Amino acid sequence: MNVPLSRLFDYLPPRDDVAPAVGCRVLVPFGRRHQVGLVLEHSAESSLPPGKIRRCDAAIDEAALISATDLRLIRFTSDYYHHPIGEVVAAALPALLRQGKALHPTVETIAVSDLGQSRDAAALARRAPKQAELLEFLVDAGGNGVDADRLTEELPNWRRVARALFEKGYIARSELRTEDFDETLASARADSLVLNEDQQKAVAILRASDHFGAYLLDGVTGSGKTEIYLQRMRDVIEQGKQVLVLAPEIGLTPQLVARLRDRLGIEPALFHSGLTDTERLTAWRAARGGTAHLLVGTRSAVFTPLKNPGLIVVDEEHDHSFKQQEGLRYSARDLAIVRAKHLDVPVILGSATPTLEMLQHCREGKYKHIRLPVRAGSAEPPIMRLVDTIRAPAADGISEPLREAIHAHLGSAGQALIFLNRRGFAPTLICASCGHIAGCDRCDSRLTVHAHSNQLRCHHCGACRSLDTRCGECGEVVKPLGEGTQRLEEALRAQFPEHSIMRVDSDSTKRKGAMHEVLEQATEGDADILVGTQMLSKGHHFPKLSLVGIVNADQGLFGTDFRSAERMAQSIVQVAGRAGRESRRGEVLIQTAFPEHPFWSTLITGGYSRVAAEALAEREVTRWPPFTRLALLRSAAHRHGDALGFLEIAKRSVADRADESLRILGPVDAPMARRAGRYRAQLLLQSSDRQALQNLLRELRPALEQEPMARKVRWSIDVDPIELF
Ligand code: ADP
Ligand code: ZN
Repeated sequence: MNVPLSRLFDYLPPRDDVAPAVGCRVLVPFGRRHQVGLVLEHSAESSLPPGKIRRCDAAIDEAALISATDLRLIRFTSDYYHHPIGEVVAAALPALLRQGKALHPTVETIAVSDLGQSRDAAALARRAPKQAELLEFLVDAGGNGVDADRLTEELPNWRRVARALFEKGYIARSELRTEDFDETLASARADSLVLNEDQQKAVAILRASDHFGAYLLDGVTGSGKTEIYLQRMRDVIEQGKQVLVLAPEIGLTPQLVARLRDRLGIEPALFHSGLTDTERLTAWRAARGGTAHLLVGTRSAVFTPLKNPGLIVVDEEHDHSFKQQEGLRYSARDLAIVRAKHLDVPVILGSATPTLEMLQHCREGKYKHIRLPVRAGSAEPPIMRLVDTIRAPAADGISEPLREAIHAHLGSAGQALIFLNRRGFAPTLICASCGHIAGCDRCDSRLTVHAHSNQLRCHHCGACRSLDTRCGECGEVVKPLGEGTQRLEEALRAQFPEHSIMRVDSDSTKRKGAMHEVLEQATEGDADILVGTQMLSKGHHFPKLSLVGIVNADQGLFGTDFRSAERMAQSIVQVAGRAGRESRRGEVLIQTAFPEHPFWSTLITGGYSRVAAEALAEREVTRWPPFTRLALLRSAAHRHGDALGFLEIAKRSVADRADESLRILGPVDAPMARRAGRYRAQLLLQSSDRQALQNLLRELRPALEQEPMARKVRWSIDVDPIELF
């Protein structure tokens, strides 16, 4: 059941006494309500006295909806992330199934009969205008009829009116099974490319086994990783098996989907947040029934049932969107690996900037490391150059050398991408006289200036108010400080008036379909200058793009998180990788106030792999992951003392159970101690022994659920956290 409790509930079979199979849904009484539950096991005994066990109302499915192997993944997820199993089941099921709807729902369709067609329309309109209206609507809709939901939308009271028409035999009702997924397409586009030597080797390694193995495909941007997936996917699909592809945010990667569809010649079943509930169920059913061979989805698609699994691919393995940051805090990448093991199929993890976790697995020989050190075809790697913003100050974010480079590239039919990972107009509103900074009332954060809408917004809690013109403290004039993408866009428009400029960030692409349009224009080369956040850096291929400018690269140089260097290198290398992907060599200009910082020489001379190797060596010494394991306990409360107090209790409970492999850090205030009106605190547990940490959490969770203080706070356990706040 979808309830936040870490336990199972016992029920007797429904009246007819046949126990529904494990993996079936059942309707059960729960408290005073009725809920949909999933049968997880059969048992001959119960800790409840016989008279106390309630009976299931009914079985919803005739046969198991979820197979034993998929239940195994659900159990694993609940155990590993210490999260109530009912909520894991809920995450694994499409909404309609969660609500107890049938796996094959039928659609009620209303159509006009022959008799209805030959009626005397004028007479009916005189006697019963409402009936005439409904009949008219159905006649206009054509022979296939209209589904009842649509009728309700168009003519809310149609059922009352329809009764008379049914009696006269003018209209008829039918129940049709919902349409099934059809993946057939005209044909695949033949491959024209010949794989280069590195690619051929990679494909050969991947083809060597159909059994479990984790393969890290570590190839620089544009090295032809996608071509390699395509080859391997084709083998698997030709054997009649299914491929599951997990990709970061599918809205951001329409190019990947189009390429797969084109080259494999089948329609992929997609799983992403833009689907309706019915579409999602249709795709889920097609995966479960084996009619869809190619399944492409974001994070939660890792739970998609597969009838004939053959291969799992995780594209852009390093991407943070694979980790869910609320509720069930799972990593879809890590679960994909576990699942591949359960299913005994290979899993390919691709990235130009692999995480240190994956690299370390390769070093230990657990995963196979496949490297593609050069770009495929004739494209050369982009040239990186630093611009010292102390010597060449930036006006509105753009330094003179960057401005000249933009001119030069646009002048020779190139395209430029200006990257700044900060949306809005300016990150700060400051008083020129007293230095007061506009802050959020509910968070410990500054408000961002949004000039177009004349607002100040908090990017943490969503609070929003009109833009001040005067300081709230001293009444003097205030001004925006620093740059966001809107300000950059404005500055570029002023400096390049005759060029087309397109901004891409979550503000500019809110409208449905907007991202798709933007990417299309960028790909066609209709926009001369693209300015935007990391939305622009993810896997895109813009053929004309020759220059990348990174406006404020310093944000991560002095980060406090142990992952700062890794993150920063990933973000720079990914965005730089958009430059020069075809014939023309790319150029990347990085603006920094700290050109002497050793990070830069490591990155520029050694690339991502050198940054990663150095960061790994450092983590080994400082004992951070992947050399140790982390779990983060978070709490939030309206009272500061409650948030910390709860974690003090948790700490004592941990200390009682801990062995010497465990280090307890905290509790301390979260780096942003107040957010959306709640105080936040955290307790970090670090251990060199994964199993010991797991065992401890297994006892801790139920103990904390019993704790009276737990009712005063919102708390969670985050296993393998990627954000330490
Ligand atoms: P990645 O996924 O590593 O970024 P892609 O597979 O998207 O790389 O390939 C980058 C570009 O290089 C694409 O335009 C692709 O068609 C092209 N490409 C890939 N392999 C080859 C090859 N062997 N010969 C020529 N071009 C190639
Ligand atoms: Zn706020």
